[in-house]
Amino acid sequence: MLPSFSYVQPRDLTGAVEQLRGDARVMAGGTDLLGCLRDGVFSTSRVVSLSALENLRGVRVEGGSVRIGALTTIAEVASHPALRERWPGLARAAGEVASPQLRNQGTLGGNLCQKPRCWYFRGEFNCLRKGGDDCYALDGRNAYHCIFGESGCCIVHPKDTAPVHPALGASVRTSAGRAVEVEALHVAPDVDFTRDTVLAPDEIVTEIEVPAAPSWTSYRKVRARRAWDFALAGVALALELDGRRVTRARVFLSGVAPIPWRSRAVEEVLTGADLDAATIERAAAAAVAGASSLGENSFKIPLVRGVVEEELARVVIA
Ligand SMILES: Cc1cc2nc3c(=O)[nH]c(=O)nc-3n(C[C@H](O)[C@H](O)[C@H](O)COP(=O)(O)OP(=O)(O)OC[C@H]3O[C@@H](n4cnc5c(N)ncnc54)[C@H](O)[C@@H]3O)c2cc1C
Repeated sequence: MLPSFSYVQPRDLTGAVEQLRGDARVMAGGTDLLGCLRDGVFSTSRVVSLSALENLRGVRVEGGSVRIGALTTIAEVASHPALRERWPGLARAAGEVASPQLRNQGTLGGNLCQKPRCWYFRGEFNCLRKGGDDCYALDGRNAYHCIFGESGCCIVHPKDTAPVHPALGASVRTSAGRAVEVEALHVAPDVDFTRDTVLAPDEIVTEIEVPAAPSWTSYRKVRARRAWDFALAGVALALELDGRRVTRARVFLSGVAPIPWRSRAVEEVLTGADLDAATIERAAAAAVAGASSLGENSFKIPLVRGVVEEELARVVIA
């Protein structure tokens, strides 16, 4: 059951920021926030709804780049004609989120700011991330946990759109008047395992700015069920191609680390190389260099290797 809290619906951004005092929480579509409150992951005395802030909605293509309001629904991102044509990796990632109902209600800003999905964090465990002393997944059930970046807490970030944004060099704009690269938005557990983003408690993402896309952008997600499921593993590619030669590569993995995981090893293999079978094989092997299993999640290592290999092969075929 949902605990009781007051609900406010400010008419403008300034009003929303003013309401974010004490333990107040921002709500966009509410698909994640309300679940967290219902399940007691955290509590609040005030929910500040952004739903009246119409100016935070919409997709604005400006020359080569695009600005997407934080309240734009995930469904709109997935189906927007300009995004599908010019930033297909982003549209694809949005289309891979959850289910049609959740995509219609959830927003792009909320997708980037949602809480992790670890079953201990979401359950009745006072784990490290909730201020306790232990990460229960380390010696417990860890099939869906990280193979990279484990440092005390071994969650994986659950956000399908999050790996594509840094691959594209995107930034968020916030109510504090600053721009934060999405690559720097997420906080790794070795920095602070109680925080997910660098945003201040009273800071609201207002829009996401995505620069011109390179020749190839894509997102591939592998999950246990066809819908309504989080990534077991995935890869976001942003490649500049000159024929078959890769002149620039940004590669981020999903489902494998507490933050969108930049695979510089894959980028190094690809950059300056012709995208042939040998390069693809080397890149796929590089994708799992340094990966380590927690026990039950060892299947993720060959899975990531296979996903990277298949997605790079798709670039060649296309
Ligand atoms: C059954 C289920 C399956 C799911 N499957 C997937 C999946 O496969 N892939 C995936 O990526 N996601 C998945 N999700 C998560 C879903 O995508 C998120 O719930 C949704 O994207 C969050 O958007 P929202 O607008 O509803 O956010 P909210 O629930 O309103 O907010 C989520 C969090 O972000 C904060 N927040 C929201 N907007 C802002 C803002 N503008 N500025 C600052 N902070 C903000 C809130 O305070 C809250 O902490 C799933 C969720 C459910 C319930």
